[in-house]
Amino acid sequence: MAKQKIVVVGAGYAGVAATKFMAKKLKKDDVEITLIDRHSYHTMMTELHEVAGGRVEPEAVQYDLQRLFARKKNVSLVTDTVIGIDKEKKIVKTKLGKYPFDQLIIGMGGEPNDFGTPGVKEHGFTLWSMEDAIKIRKHIEDTVAKAALEPDEATRRAMLTFVVCGSGFTGIEMIGELMEWKNVLAKEHKLRPEEFTLMVVEALPTILNMLDRKDAEKAERFMMKKGIQLKKGAPITEVTADHIVLKDGSQIPTNTLIWTAGVKGTTDAADFGLEAARGQRLYANEFMQAKGYEDKDIYIVGDLVYYEENDDGKPTPQIVQAAEQTAHTAAANIVAKIKNTQKHEFKSNYQGFMVSIGSKWGVANLMDKVHMAGFMAIVMKHIVNLKYFFDMRSGYYMFQYMMHEFFHIKNDRNVTRGHSSRYGNVLWSVPLRVFYGSMWLVEASKKVVGDGSYLNPSSWFGSGSWFTDKVVFPFPWLQEQVTTGASAAGSHAAEATTAATGAAGGATDATATAATHFGFNYTFGENPMPVFEKMPNWFAKIMEFMMPNKDVALFMQKFMTFVEIGIALALIFGLFTWLANAATIGLVVAFCLSGMFYWVNIWFIPVAFALMNGSGRALGLDRWVIPWIQRTAGRWWYGTPRSIYGKDSSN
Ligand SMILES: Cc1cc2nc3c(=O)[nH]c(=O)nc-3n(C[C@H](O)[C@H](O)[C@H](O)COP(=O)(O)OP(=O)(O)OC[C@H]3O[C@@H](n4cnc5c(N)ncnc54)[C@H](O)[C@@H]3O)c2cc1C
Repeated sequence: MAKQKIVVVGAGYAGVAATKFMAKKLKKDDVEITLIDRHSYHTMMTELHEVAGGRVEPEAVQYDLQRLFARKKNVSLVTDTVIGIDKEKKIVKTKLGKYPFDQLIIGMGGEPNDFGTPGVKEHGFTLWSMEDAIKIRKHIEDTVAKAALEPDEATRRAMLTFVVCGSGFTGIEMIGELMEWKNVLAKEHKLRPEEFTLMVVEALPTILNMLDRKDAEKAERFMMKKGIQLKKGAPITEVTADHIVLKDGSQIPTNTLIWTAGVKGTTDAADFGLEAARGQRLYANEFMQAKGYEDKDIYIVGDLVYYEENDDGKPTPQIVQAAEQTAHTAAANIVAKIKNTQKHEFKSNYQGFMVSIGSKWGVANLMDKVHMAGFMAIVMKHIVNLKYFFDMRSGYYMFQYMMHEFFHIKNDRNVTRGHSSRYGNVLWSVPLRVFYGSMWLVEASKKVVGDGSYLNPSSWFGSGSWFTDKVVFPFPWLQEQVTTGASAAGSHAAEATTAATGAAGGATDATATAATHFGFNYTFGENPMPVFEKMPNWFAKIMEFMMPNKDVALFMQKFMTFVEIGIALALIFGLFTWLANAATIGLVVAFCLSGMFYWVNIWFIPVAFALMNGSGRALGLDRWVIPWIQRTAGRWWYGTPRSIYGKDSSN
């Protein structure tokens, strides 16, 4: 078979899922997959309300396609807008070029449906793209700033009235963000939060109609408690610049109407000459093949496809799970055709729904079995989002997601109520960093010098030093070897029990038999208590595997000393401080488990955690080294993310 050209249009949830699937399954086949999108990034649409509502910056929900498909040799990326399809000649036409295909997947998504309501296009806002989200955010910031200067109370209140039309995921999540943002904006502009009005207007008599009724009712109660007004059974009939009109003729003064009441198939695909169903969605069969063009290998997926699984007048829902599952069906059928295997029919498997109302509260329904409300539902939403990156095999964006959602959020707008994202000046931790590093240096030096004098190098490496032929680790199998194994080291078992890192240094032969005392500081005359008197068996097995005999143990004790010196210098000079502190935690835990560490020194662990706060970025080398590594490694692995504009690839 000649090289197969697969073109995927749209890098939304559906297009990305299909491309990932085919890139993996066809790794060894002679194929070229071209993924075309008007953006150079994939947008996490389900979190767009966070951008519109001023919680996160746009880059938090934009994922560069170049990073998502890094090192996928059979995938080419094109940043271009598709304007037509020649179904007979099998060519995709873009603004800048033409792309012949053997197989085509169209996953161009949807767009807001205003059902012809007058004024929505001219005066309303929609939330269905990054551009929409940024526009809403800017409008709200500007409107609140103007309202703060408006002396007339009625006009000011109208300006501070924000109405969302529609109570699906998009509408409820949007109003949830405004609920939190309102307080921040009020404070910034010296306004009273009570002057703001937040309202959801819904044409149907109930809200969140894709949810179980009990879950929806909980959400409704929560919103009422938070002062959000709900107008149900109230279709909007007109939108103007300064008010909206409801079906009963009443008017609500507002400058901000966010329309989230419906989704239809994208207008960009309306002229492709493919058979359209309700809401501009394009018909496909159970294999996701475009109706009437089954022999042309054209597939429709995601929000754009119209496929009734049960012939009941209900098409696949316009949700992420359906987008991914229709995409997998199409992609699996392309793979089947290329590999000459059996075709796959679409079979839905929806795992549930999650809706957030602000950053700390939500409702979730998992597999119609587990129902959650509140904090746990939000935790579940984060887990599902993190799993999305795991499924896409993108450790980079999993990390970025955590940074944006947990560690870099402002105004306490996250599930930890800001506890994980408190900004402070790391300068104040520099003295502790230098002290902690110096302490490791002193302790490591003791292991080099032993009982000798620091000032006299010729006396180093004597008794007490870790650089002799005496094993310092108190592990029984090493002691046995020492006593039975000819070496004079046999008499050093007791010494060994005290030979841990400098931390353990207090106990002596004289005190070894006295009762040990628990405490977090050393009281004169007391025999401090070790964290573990005896190594746990499982740990002993690991240690025995790592240090089976005296030779290895002697090497390890010298090696450990160098590691400690390395950690000490890294901490003092602020180089790789996160790693160095993580390593000290690992070391201390290992010393504890070895029976070589005392409660009085347990503070090593919390101090190391405290210093993982970027302390090397103030008066430390990490300030320059870490950004340089990030830049260089990023360029090497991913290249420099940029738009790869379309070109004529028909030749
Ligand atoms: C605020 C918000 C919250 C949501 N919350 C949820 C939720 O909680 N759970 C849930 O399941 N769903 C939710 N959804 C719906 C969900 O986002 C969609 O169902 C999903 O994005 C559909 O995926 P898709 O791949 O079909 O289309 P999209 O994700 O819309 O992707 C379409 C892609 O096609 C590209 N494209 C379009 N036209 C062209 C063209 N002419 N040329 C080139 N490229 C083009 C676009 O740039 C885009 O990248 C939410 C949506 C929004 C907006």
